[in-house]
Amino acid sequence: MNDLSPFSQRRDRFLEQLSGKAAIIPAASLVRHHADCDYPFRQNSDFWYLTGFDEPDAVALFLSHRPLGERFILFVLPKKPDIEIWNGFRWGTQGAVEKFGADVAHPLDEFPNLLAEYLQGAEGIAFRVGKHPKIEPIVLKCWAEQLDRAQRSGCVELPLVAPCCLLHKLRLRKGPEEVERMREAARISAEAHEIARNITRPGMNERQIQAIIEQHFLDKGARGPAYGSIVAGGDNACVLHYTANNAPLRNGELLLIDAGCSLVDYYNGDITRTFPINGRFTFEQQALYEVVLAAQQAAVESVIPGQNAESVHFTALKVLVEGLLDLGLLKGEVQSLIEQDAYSHLYMHRTGHWLGLDVHDVGAYRLGEHPVNLEPGMVLTVEPGLYVSDRLRVPEGQPEIEDRWKGIGIRIEDDVLVTETGPEVLSAAALKSVEELQK
Ligand code: MG
Ligand code: ZN
Repeated sequence: MNDLSPFSQRRDRFLEQLSGKAAIIPAASLVRHHADCDYPFRQNSDFWYLTGFDEPDAVALFLSHRPLGERFILFVLPKKPDIEIWNGFRWGTQGAVEKFGADVAHPLDEFPNLLAEYLQGAEGIAFRVGKHPKIEPIVLKCWAEQLDRAQRSGCVELPLVAPCCLLHKLRLRKGPEEVERMREAARISAEAHEIARNITRPGMNERQIQAIIEQHFLDKGARGPAYGSIVAGGDNACVLHYTANNAPLRNGELLLIDAGCSLVDYYNGDITRTFPINGRFTFEQQALYEVVLAAQQAAVESVIPGQNAESVHFTALKVLVEGLLDLGLLKGEVQSLIEQDAYSHLYMHRTGHWLGLDVHDVGAYRLGEHPVNLEPGMVLTVEPGLYVSDRLRVPEGQPEIEDRWKGIGIRIEDDVLVTETGPEVLSAAALKSVEELQK
């Protein structure tokens, strides 16, 4: 990390919102894969957002009740050459202060002893229960002791609140430095899709395409795939979370690829493209593809301030249902088909999600009755699809599906930034028109 000032600006904003409370935000821990091997380390996104510190098991305290210069405390794994020789470099307490801007840093094993003192005078504790099994008992014990003391001094309220609302509201609107990173993640991801499509030939295996995509992510300096890459030929594309990726690619079928990279600082791309394996759409494939593309384009155009994720979804859904009516795959009237979910055997997911440090990023979609309005700086995916197979029952009153449509699964997904002047499609370099996909 070169420029750490965005992290300190985020801390200032977070501290301001804590208004008298103390927040405890733990880092992620390593997770065992098998025997004595761990999964690759993945930092907790909240912790990363506020610190930029990429080691496991640390704990950050944000003490809004303390004076300036005593508000950001880091507990970190201590420097230990005999452990670092096995597992790699640690910054230690000195690095936590000098490189990461902590006001004070302690070795992690002092956390249980020092927490009570730091919490003293706070008007509440912001800590997410149920997520941090190592830290939680220490926090709860400390809270209980503070409650006992508070009761004796006549002040009975010491709320334990979730920090998520405050923090996730901040994370939902990306700052300019974050938008730059999102552009980079989308750019690398889009390049990988282009390379994959150009290489794809009948007779290859899904896994070979996965390898080409993920090789590009690593080649460009990303951490790797942001989520399990979906490389699904033919009917496999009708399984929404297909990740087996080990079937031959057949002449005359489509290939659906849903893949995006995660950068070293964790910003993610999430792109889906679907194209003919042999470079030519069949009549049925093209007919369905054009419906999905029209729905996607209409939905992307609706990503403007004042709209919301729900209105984007319904914009796409209306075009999908109209297209399915034209093709005879549904019958009835658009509005009532939508109200009755009569399309749900062909389209069974929502049209998008927030995107950021998490692939399905944090942030509310509704606040009570009201959908959250899109604002400049928010990033969301727009990803309608159609999936025609035998897996789900055709709803009563809807036409049975002819065999010629079956085994076609299509999704088109872009990453879209909300700006004052309209949608900016971060993943536009991955081509998607019918002409561009044919060869
Ligand atoms: Mg996706
Ligand atoms: Zn997605």
